[in-house]
Amino acid sequence: MARKIVAGNWKMNKLADEAQDLFNDVLKGADKLNCEIVICPPALYLQGFNNISKTDVNVGAQNVSAYVKGAYTGEFSAEMLRSLSIPYCIVGHSERRSLFGETDSEINEKIKNLLFNHISPIFCCGETLDQREIGIEKDVVKDQIIKALEGLKSSQIGSIVIAYEPVWAIGTGVTASTEQAQEMHAYIRKVLLEKYGEIAFEIPLLYGGSCKPSNARELFACKDIDGGLIGGASLEAASFLSIANSFS
Ligand code: PEP
Repeated sequence: MARKIVAGNWKMNKLADEAQDLFNDVLKGADKLNCEIVICPPALYLQGFNNISKTDVNVGAQNVSAYVKGAYTGEFSAEMLRSLSIPYCIVGHSERRSLFGETDSEINEKIKNLLFNHISPIFCCGETLDQREIGIEKDVVKDQIIKALEGLKSSQIGSIVIAYEPVWAIGTGVTASTEQAQEMHAYIRKVLLEKYGEIAFEIPLLYGGSCKPSNARELFACKDIDGGLIGGASLEAASFLSIANSFS
């Protein structure tokens, strides 16, 4: 069975002292949870947070360079994350795809570099509203997964976390229904099972898209939903911890 994870994507929010307070509050409240927590703050705060993180509260980057090393001003590499012992990194978030033009082949490079450095990618996939309305959401998600994981061996797949994030639900307040979310998660599991075998049951599949305390319990009760990737609701310790406390 896949382990349970609730990850918080803070995006470009929180000044240093606010971020520290929020991280401390999450640490304080995380003792009695029966899931792993991954906090993905702005990259500037990663090292400081990682030094005080504890078992079952880990940190992750929100992005990484597709390049290995060299003259790429403003970038940081997977190897640099490894040198700081950062265990997770989000890859392929829809905001990176739509606002920064991140391509499937860059996402594939990033995932390979992360795995080479023993960092677990939290790979995001999901369809737009237009794609769902014309009924191609499963094809889109399958295509994203196949391209992102191209060239990986079954032995590497066990280190990956996948977040299904329908683009139309991210930051909009509109959540996928439990039926829509479970149906896509089951489909993703099937795609992984067909391609990589039984290891598919060990891969945490997270739901992301306006997940909040009021809907987390219902979503997390679904058979193939192993937790969540949380944006807006991760910016307050109480709402994030309440979501992380939503496993029955
Ligand atoms: C996200 O950006 O990954 C996300 C899920 O955001 P929100 O929870 O705000 O929809």
